[in-house]
Amino acid sequence: MPDPVLNIDALDAHYGDFQALHGVTMQVTAGEVLALIGANGAGKTTLLRAVAGLLRSRSGAILWQGRPIGALRADQIAALGIAMVPEGRLLFDSLTVEENLIIGGQLGRRGPWTLERVQTLFPILRERRHFPANALSGGQQQMVAIGRALMANPELILMDEISLGLAPVVIRQIYDALPAIVAEGLTAIIVEQDITRALSVSHRIYCLQEGRVALTGPSVDVTRDAIARAYFGV
Ligand code: ATP
Repeated sequence: MPDPVLNIDALDAHYGDFQALHGVTMQVTAGEVLALIGANGAGKTTLLRAVAGLLRSRSGAILWQGRPIGALRADQIAALGIAMVPEGRLLFDSLTVEENLIIGGQLGRRGPWTLERVQTLFPILRERRHFPANALSGGQQQMVAIGRALMANPELILMDEISLGLAPVVIRQIYDALPAIVAEGLTAIIVEQDITRALSVSHRIYCLQEGRVALTGPSVDVTRDAIARAYFGV
């Protein structure tokens, strides 16, 4: 395997006294799409939050492009090229669609993603650019959240349950855009509850169970049985 661009080593994470991650080790190679799966409460969001600097871990290491980032603030990590599409989207509701996208670009990293290009990826965002974000459907808001992350021109994008609560047709639209999103060599970690989709869009999967890595492997090789065991610990 080539040198990992993201190297997570024996990472623990806590909420107060509760330990949500136990010695999670994970390597991600540049350009890889990695799916993170696991039951509710397994620690998927916690892991993304730790990488994005939204949660400080007490022990273990996170190396991004060889540099330890575990002690950096979220804005410093964003400036190094890591962007997150958070669960629940967290848009600025009263700002327009376009303003939300522009905010994503304010870190000023150079790269292929511009307002124009995001609007071409999701044409509805051009059509509705002057609408307040909260006037859009859930799926359209998810497109804004993805577009906002892309506007930062990240090298790693963390996507937390981007299909949650959306209609199948909208989920398809969003996932249809994924190849164009990762075409430039962008690395992606995607939390996805739908196992079939997770396997079909990713190169490798990691399955967490109660804060531990229970299974990892190339998505084409892992079996349903192995996933079921890793999910439920049976
Ligand atoms: P889901 O699929 O439900 O989003 P997840 O795999 O993303 O689950 P996390 O949200 O990372 O799981 O949660 C991991 C564990 O940490 C759970 O037991 C959860 O209850 C706990 N937890 C998450 N956030 C907090 C918090 N802010 N305070 C206390 N405990 C938390």
